[in-house]
Amino acid sequence: MSIITQINLLKKRRTKIIATLGPASSEPDQIRKLIKAGVNVFRQNMSHGDHDYHRETYALVREIAKDLNQPIGILADLCGPKIRTGKFRKDSIELKNNDTVVVTTRDIEGKPDLIPSQYAALADDVESGDRILLADGTLELEVDKIQGTEITCTIIYGGTLGNHKGINLPGVKVSAPSLTEKDKADAELALELGVDFMALSFVRSATDINDLRELINRSDCDAYIIAKIEKPEALDEASAILDAADGIMVARGDLGVELNPEQVPVAQHQLIDLARQKFKPVIVATQMLESMIENARPTRAEVTDVANAVTLGTDAIMLSGETAVGAFPIDAVKMMDRIARQTESYLWSHHAYGAKVSETLSHTAIPIWDAVANATAQLTQDIKAHAVVVISQSGMSAATMSSARPAAPVVGITNREDICRKMAMLWSVIPVYSEEAGKTNPNELAKKIAFEEGLAASGEKILLIRGFNNTSTMNTPSVTVLSI
Ligand code: PEP
Repeated sequence: MSIITQINLLKKRRTKIIATLGPASSEPDQIRKLIKAGVNVFRQNMSHGDHDYHRETYALVREIAKDLNQPIGILADLCGPKIRTGKFRKDSIELKNNDTVVVTTRDIEGKPDLIPSQYAALADDVESGDRILLADGTLELEVDKIQGTEITCTIIYGGTLGNHKGINLPGVKVSAPSLTEKDKADAELALELGVDFMALSFVRSATDINDLRELINRSDCDAYIIAKIEKPEALDEASAILDAADGIMVARGDLGVELNPEQVPVAQHQLIDLARQKFKPVIVATQMLESMIENARPTRAEVTDVANAVTLGTDAIMLSGETAVGAFPIDAVKMMDRIARQTESYLWSHHAYGAKVSETLSHTAIPIWDAVANATAQLTQDIKAHAVVVISQSGMSAATMSSARPAAPVVGITNREDICRKMAMLWSVIPVYSEEAGKTNPNELAKKIAFEEGLAASGEKILLIRGFNNTSTMNTPSVTVLSI
């Protein structure tokens, strides 16, 4: 068998790309180029930048997306109870293996044997023998004793520790609420702006999601909630968290510090499968093309990591520092686009998409939504349909269809611009805004839009899905085969 090195790329990329905004990507020209390179959703990282900055970049993205006529989503990422070191008198200190160091919650400047942290409950949360990881887990302390605000530790793995570096407490029940005062203020801003998605960091249970949901419900914005899975407790509660949220992010940066690194790929695989089962989007994030922060080309391992996430069927892949502060933000997006296209084309040509019949073989009935979506995906393969068209009010039908990962692209037609932007996150969904949705004959509208989008030509087949509904008595889905 010869190994095919040149394969025909699909017309439309299935996996969506999220790019984090930052100093390297806030100019109008950069935002325009990023969209043209393939960004579907921009992430505003509330850990950095002030409210004026976020207002400005929000307005720019909306303006440029409108100008380019692209449904681009905006996700505001709330930092949650991220614990950090404070500031050091000389900006950093050196930690030497086996030396003793004190971590204090007093509001003071740090010095060589003293690490300040603004997290007041730190001394209450840790116990003797616990591990304190610093600076993305590169440095490690072991707690010896706690006296009031002072935590005396032995340095297990030393190195240089700078200002405001992350502190992780693996295995420790952190008592801070998931929605901090800063998060509430940032969420108010995001809701006032009208973001499409809001991500919540360090989620531990479904209750954390409900707190944010209450805040959203009191506003005029119905942003979808993305729960960032980065704590072991969140993995245990993943199913309930996903039921409460509208999607999840595999936040591998902190997850990889809180878990053993070798556990992260398995967790990623399980979370992607779980999200698909529940028809909700999943994002794989962090260090995907990390070396492109400094270099024009990624490492082979990074390329393989992106391809692996695409093969597992994640809805979206995310760039963080690569586009926020990197030297090659546009190249990073182009690279991600190329990796996804190459991988998807290979999967498509090897019939890896579409329903897996074995999964549906069961003695008990599976939910109607799953069954119809799976059957449609199978039909797409069998009749070589060129598109699956869904006329979607809330985006739910498009999400359901997308979760079956059909071989043909899913066209989500809606008369709501906000739903178009939310569909921008969904695997394979091409959001199309049309005022005719709900007015014109659906068959004619589906044919017209599939043709206009360049997906199907005269005589070719498409599928039209209608009738999904949350109320079981009104849930009467139908699949129509149409010829253009
Ligand atoms: C992560 O930890 O992987 C992540 C996405 O969160 P943040 O970038 O906010 O640290």
